[in-house]
Amino acid sequence: MSAIVIDGKAVAEEVKADVAKKVEGLKSRGIVPCLAVILVGENPASVSYVTGKRKALAAAGMADKSVLLPETATEQQVLDLIHELNEDSSVHGILVQLPLPKHIDEKKVTNAISPEKDVDGFHPVNVGKLLSGEKGFLPCTPHGIAVLLKKAGVATDGANTVVIGRSNIVGKPMALLLLRREYNATVTVCHTGTKNLAEYTKKADILIVASGHPHTVTADMVKSGAAVIDVGVNRIPDSSKKSGFRLIGDVDYDSVKEVAGYITPVPGGVGPMTIAMLIYNTLEAAENISLAEGK
Ligand code: NAP
Repeated sequence: MSAIVIDGKAVAEEVKADVAKKVEGLKSRGIVPCLAVILVGENPASVSYVTGKRKALAAAGMADKSVLLPETATEQQVLDLIHELNEDSSVHGILVQLPLPKHIDEKKVTNAISPEKDVDGFHPVNVGKLLSGEKGFLPCTPHGIAVLLKKAGVATDGANTVVIGRSNIVGKPMALLLLRREYNATVTVCHTGTKNLAEYTKKADILIVASGHPHTVTADMVKSGAAVIDVGVNRIPDSSKKSGFRLIGDVDYDSVKEVAGYITPVPGGVGPMTIAMLIYNTLEAAENISLAEGK
């Protein structure tokens, strides 16, 4: 039997509609949640992600103070801009679209964002809070996946969960989040040093794949009935498309959907949730800041 396809687009619409309603409430108190996205250069994938984020901001009724800098912008210019936005009380969230051009130190830039405005959840203060179980901003992609699992009715409590990938933005925070008591999963993290990947994946009730390579997971690596979450976004040439490419994930979708119990498509699975959770975090930032200011 074919897997249930988890509709990330529909769940993301639900989350965004809920956020938009809360934005109305804040606006009636004179607070307009505002995000500043900083994009340096014109990397096509980054431009497309930033466009998507800004569209979602507008749809949620939020203000947009995004800044587009040329590829030649210096590290100091980016840091100065972040300091300015940190001080700007009308801005509640700041996000720097990664990757940055090679001459700019990503860590330095990420660490310059005020933790209270770090809606990506990449600042060490928020990473530390995730690790210690304190309330802080959760990274959007792992948080979106946790919401998707819940909405799809996939039980995480005691579930054998395998995460493929240990990046700071997906794999590691995903593992930490599902380890929390509220999710209570048993989590294994695999990476390129893992010997016999299939041995692990075949035992997974929940398999989260963030390897960055198409076809990392094939049907023979998946337990029957497992929930397979495909985080991957890979552009592959396709002359039948106007753009000249199409997007595929890290999972061999066509074969895996015949074995899995649940599966997320690419596009239309995890991607829309990442944007929805960014909007959610921006709302949270505006609520926190206005509360701290006694509004
Ligand atoms: P990344 O930084 O390249 O990390 C990939 C991870 O996968 C690394 O830890 C790597 O191991 C591991 N890996 C690679 N090939 C493997 C294999 N054959 N077996 C086991 N482990 C393997 O990538 P990322 O930033 O986490 O992103 C992962 C994917 O998700 C990409 O396709 C990216 O485009 C996508 N993504 C999507 C969204 C979204 O919103 N949909 C958001 C973020 C990322 P090592 O550590 O040993 O190198």
